[in-house]
Amino acid sequence: MALIPNSDEARDIAYHFHAYTDARDHEASAPLIIDRAEGAYVYDSNGKRYLEGMAGLWSVAVGFGEKRLVDAAARQMQRLSFGHNFTSRTHMPAIDLAEKLVKIAPVPMSKVFFTNSGSEANDTVIKMIWYRSNALGQPQRKKIIARERAYHGVTLASGSLTAFSHNHASFDMPIANVLRTGSPHFWRDAEAGETEEDFATRRANELEQLILSEGPDSIAAFFGEPVLGAGGVVTPPRTYWEKIQAVLGKYDVLLVADEVVCGFGRTGKMFGSETYDIKPDIMVLSKALSSSYLPISAILVNDKVYQTIADESHRIGTFGHGFTGGAHPVAAAVALENIAVIEDRDLVGNAARVGQYLRDRLHRFSDHPLVGEVRGVGLVAAVELHRKNFPSAAAFKDGQLGSQANAYLAEEGVLLRAAVDALTICPPLTITTEDADLLVEKIGLVLDRMASELS
Ligand code: PMP
Repeated sequence: MALIPNSDEARDIAYHFHAYTDARDHEASAPLIIDRAEGAYVYDSNGKRYLEGMAGLWSVAVGFGEKRLVDAAARQMQRLSFGHNFTSRTHMPAIDLAEKLVKIAPVPMSKVFFTNSGSEANDTVIKMIWYRSNALGQPQRKKIIARERAYHGVTLASGSLTAFSHNHASFDMPIANVLRTGSPHFWRDAEAGETEEDFATRRANELEQLILSEGPDSIAAFFGEPVLGAGGVVTPPRTYWEKIQAVLGKYDVLLVADEVVCGFGRTGKMFGSETYDIKPDIMVLSKALSSSYLPISAILVNDKVYQTIADESHRIGTFGHGFTGGAHPVAAAVALENIAVIEDRDLVGNAARVGQYLRDRLHRFSDHPLVGEVRGVGLVAAVELHRKNFPSAAAFKDGQLGSQANAYLAEEGVLLRAAVDALTICPPLTITTEDADLLVEKIGLVLDRMASELS
C-alpha cells in the first residue's frame, strides 16, 4: 500500500520496530494509529470510533480517560516523582499499595514485591522459587511446570513458561528446567465420551505422572492462569483446579497463580483464584492492577515462601534483585486509585452482571456453522471459530479465520484479538448492556459475512 511520504503512518514504518508484528508485513501495511480514547471506546487518527473489546491488552479495567486516575498520577508526580525501595528506602504509595493488596488477597499472603510488567514479575517469581530451593538445601528442586497454551510473558524465563512456538523460535528458548503439562482445553482436547470431570481427572493424573517421572524432589512449582487468557480464554473444566491442587499438595509443589489477566474483577470475582477456589502460594498481578495507565506489577508471596527467602537474604546480606522502576510511586498511586474506583463503582459486580448478559447472547452463536465453541466467565469470553463446515476453507492455515474475523470487526468498529482462531473478548469492566449488544451485533454480522463468503 502506497503511503503519503512523511505521513504519520510512513514515519511509523520508517522508525518504529513493533512488538508482536511481522516486520516485513508491517513495512507493506498501513498501521492503525489510535489517537485518543474515552470509556470503552478508542478513536483512530481519522476520527473513526471503535469499541475496545480487549480493553487494550486485557488491561484497561476502569475504561479510558478516568479522571480519578489522571489526577492521582498528577498529584503523585508533583509530590514525589520518583522513589525506590532498595536498601530499606520506601514511600507512601508503596506502603499503601502493598498493604491494600495483602488485605484484598483471597488467601493469606505475607508480602508484596513490585515489578513493572507481567513478564518481569514471572521472571522474578522463578528467581524467588530457585532462591528458596537453595535456601532449603534442595538445590535440585528447580523444575517448573507450565501448561500447554500458557502465557506468562516473554522475558527469558517467563517466556520459557509461555507455551507458544513463536515465543521460542529463533530466541534459543525455552531455558532448562521448564516442564510442560496438558492444558485444560476441554473442547479441543477431550476424548470422545469424556465428561468434564473425567477430563480434569486425566489432566491431574498426567500431572502426577510427570512429577513422578521427573522425581518429586526436583519439582519446585506449577504456574497456572486461573483462566488461560492469551491461550484462547480457556475456562477450566469442572473439578479441574481441585484435582490439580490435590496433586501439587501431595508432592509439596508451590502453586503460582498468574492473575495478570484474571485479577481485579475479570472473572466476576475480585480474583480468578476466588472464582475457582485456588489457594496459591504466590500470586502475580499486573494489567488491571493499574488499568495499564502506567506499567506496574506485583508479586504476593505467602509466609511459606517469604520466610525462607528472608532468612537466605540475611545469610547473603541482601536479596540481590530489584528494578529501578519497581514500586514506582506514580504507578503505585495510580494502582491504589484504580482499585478504589473498582471498589467504589462495584466494577466486579458489573463484570459479573454484564458478563452474564454478554455471554448469554454470545451463546446464541454456538450453533453458527463457523463457531465451534463459545466459552467464558465473568467479562472474558471467546468465540472459537472452526472451518469444518466449509470445504472452501479446507486449505486455510490455523489462525486465518481468526485474523479475517478481526479485520472485518475492525471495519465494523470493534477491536478484538484472535488466539489462533478463537476470537477473544475482554472489554473494560465498565461496559454497559448497550455496549455488549453492540459487540454481539457486530460479531454476528461478521460471522454471517464470513460464512456467506465461504459458502
Ligand atoms: N501473564 C499473563 C497471564 C499475561 O496475559 C501476560 C500478558 N498478556 C503476561 C503474564 C505478561 O505481561 P507483560 O506483557 O506485562 O509482560
